[in-house]
Amino acid sequence: MSNGNLVEQLFSGNFEFVDLGQPLNEDTLILNLPEPFKNTPGFSKEKISEYDEDGPAWAWNTFSCGEHVGSHFDAPIHWVTGKDGISVADIPANDLFGEAIVIDLAAECAENPDRLLEVDDILAFEKEHGKIPARSWVAMKTGWAQYAQDGEKFFNVGEDGMPHTPGPSVDAVIFLAEERDILGFCTETVGTDAGIAATFEPMFPCHNIMHGKGKYGLTQLNNLDKLPPRGAVIIASPLKITGGTGSPVRPLAIVPK
Ligand code: MN
Repeated sequence: MSNGNLVEQLFSGNFEFVDLGQPLNEDTLILNLPEPFKNTPGFSKEKISEYDEDGPAWAWNTFSCGEHVGSHFDAPIHWVTGKDGISVADIPANDLFGEAIVIDLAAECAENPDRLLEVDDILAFEKEHGKIPARSWVAMKTGWAQYAQDGEKFFNVGEDGMPHTPGPSVDAVIFLAEERDILGFCTETVGTDAGIAATFEPMFPCHNIMHGKGKYGLTQLNNLDKLPPRGAVIIASPLKITGGTGSPVRPLAIVPK
């Protein structure tokens, strides 16, 4: 295919471009770890100038935030199991593109916020849509994006003090990493693991196992409901922070109409 054909096809009207990012601002909800762990700062922004005496014709700001704030990318070195792996800056360009595999459990998650993605869900998906290809982004569609601006619903902390939000089971993570060799796991929630995943063995399996195998995570996504079960392409490119363990990202999807 010539370059001309690529551009022609991409902008032919046969594809829709979907923004999978959530807004990034002072209200962006962030993970809260219990004592004695240190927490990440959220997003903040400070004006340098705004068409004023500090810069008469221009506006610009300084921003600061943790690497794992808002819609963001988890690199392998984010977890101790992946400490010999790569940082966001070292992710090869090929890995910034992958097919979106969207497993829709939104209706069930609305009924049961602790709903886990199980191997049986994956096999049921494959029966209908074919085998999940290697190096794809597997997304668990939970409906949680609608709560991204509502901390109470987004974290859904129970009487036990634990967040109750959906995520993958240990077996599902092992299956996707080892049997399907995926690029990484995507969620609409604050992290790639279920709210109660601190109680799993191993704890936080999506971090422990995925990153240990050199795989990635994408969190706090928006608009997964605009993607088909298969056939869309996700472009997720973190900032090229040298040695960075993660980065805010505005993932995009190219969706065939
Ligand atoms: Mn993270």
